[in-house]
Amino acid sequence: MSTGPLTDGDHHVHSTFSDDAVSTPAQNLAAAQVARLREIRMVDHVRVSTTYVPEFLSVVRALPRLEGLTVLTGVEAKILDASGAIDAPPEVLAALGTPAGPDRVLLADHQVPGPDGPWSPRATRERIDAGLAPADVVEMLVTATIRAMRAAGRAQLAHPFSILPKIGLKEDDVPDELLDALAQAAVDTGTTVEINEKWQCPGPRAADRWRAAGVQLVASTDAHDAADVGVYSWVRG
Ligand SMILES: [Zn+2]
Ligand SMILES: [Zn+2]
Repeated sequence: MSTGPLTDGDHHVHSTFSDDAVSTPAQNLAAAQVARLREIRMVDHVRVSTTYVPEFLSVVRALPRLEGLTVLTGVEAKILDASGAIDAPPEVLAALGTPAGPDRVLLADHQVPGPDGPWSPRATRERIDAGLAPADVVEMLVTATIRAMRAAGRAQLAHPFSILPKIGLKEDDVPDELLDALAQAAVDTGTTVEINEKWQCPGPRAADRWRAAGVQLVASTDAHDAADVGVYSWVRG
């Protein structure tokens, strides 16, 4: 049985280890306590070349333990290409779920994973305008996501389908078969899937279908400021 997303958890919270976020892990922890969360996943952005992950993990693990609040860790990395390559240091991916590594890698659709590497939203729109079928773009995105989930082993899908509006498409452009293939891979690999407050995705059609398939859905704010930790309005609706 799976339920959720439960809004007493926030599974995607950034700290100052991400250059676009303003709060320290300690400030985020305090905010999680104020919001009466039971779980917080502290996550920061990485690329293949990132070196701060050991320091980030030691800072998070040195935080005071608060009763009733579980602190989880992660790194957020984009899916690089159609093969499902992940933009994270290989040693970080190899250490997922071990004492030396973060709990999970958050797989992000910040770009479209093309056959030759990441396509920006603008470059993708240009290809669609030039005749590339939107259905092929959607299939490439979902296939790459499934490959990345299977390669990672311990993943979480960050804001799934957040890229679609940026390339002029909608979640309704994703056929049921692809939603189901993604769900199957998530169940097979134990990948959690976010319902993301910041990006307001995925929508109810995908979320309901995934929940029915047994996918573990988790709520996230994608907070870049402690004031936003555990604060939900869209997700609750
Ligand atoms: Zn992201
Ligand atoms: Zn994020």
